[in-house]
Amino acid sequence: MQEEATIEKEASAPLLVQIIKENDIQGFALDLDNTFLKTSQYYTTAEYILSLEIAESLTSNISNETFATEMSHILTKQYYEKKGQPILVTDRYILALEEYLGNKISNEEIQQINEYYADFYMKSPEMIEGSVELLKLMIDLKLPLIFNSNAQDEWTRIKLRGFEELLDGFNLPYNVVDINKEKGPESWKYSVKRINTPIERTLMMGDSLVADILAGIAAGCRNIVWVNGDLNKLPLWVREDTSIHIWCVDSVRELIVI
Ligand SMILES: [Mg+2]
Repeated sequence: MQEEATIEKEASAPLLVQIIKENDIQGFALDLDNTFLKTSQYYTTAEYILSLEIAESLTSNISNETFATEMSHILTKQYYEKKGQPILVTDRYILALEEYLGNKISNEEIQQINEYYADFYMKSPEMIEGSVELLKLMIDLKLPLIFNSNAQDEWTRIKLRGFEELLDGFNLPYNVVDINKEKGPESWKYSVKRINTPIERTLMMGDSLVADILAGIAAGCRNIVWVNGDLNKLPLWVREDTSIHIWCVDSVRELIVI
């Protein structure tokens, strides 16, 4: 395995171009949420504000802010318990509130949560800095790309439309995995097949250890950019396999800066 640090940086080329050249990359398979979009932040901000609203109607002696913070902790804990598998934002909040209260919540509370989130899936999370420029560079290099996302089809369209508008209407292909299913190796294989690129010559990008990195490796990916990655979290056999190249970056922006 090869880390970013082992590549000698040429002053003249962004990391993406170096990776392409040195590994004969012919296409890209991309995760969307938290790789190109600030999706976690979109969730946590909305949840915090909803918690402040709900705190108003709770008969409790803790402050609204303390309640909102405690809810954030429960939401995060439940997310990790589900190993990052997405669920509908309303169900996600209801489950966390029930854990906080220790009992089922009322229909009025469910209605308040549903109303609050009525337009949640009609808007896109903010783009991560550098993500548009990265897509521009991929398009300029004339290499095919595809997104592989574990989210609703319509929401994915809305998210991608934001990028397409900034890319002169360039059509961004995508594959969606229903949120009731896991984004496993088959989804990566299927996505890469759609862009007609050998999987071992595809550069995959993602932030999730299970849904992106390990699923991609199981699908046959050998070149992977891991956003917010930590090589210590990889199984030993991955670390010891010299045919697998993983570049850990703090953000996709690192791929385009010179
Ligand atoms: Mg992701």
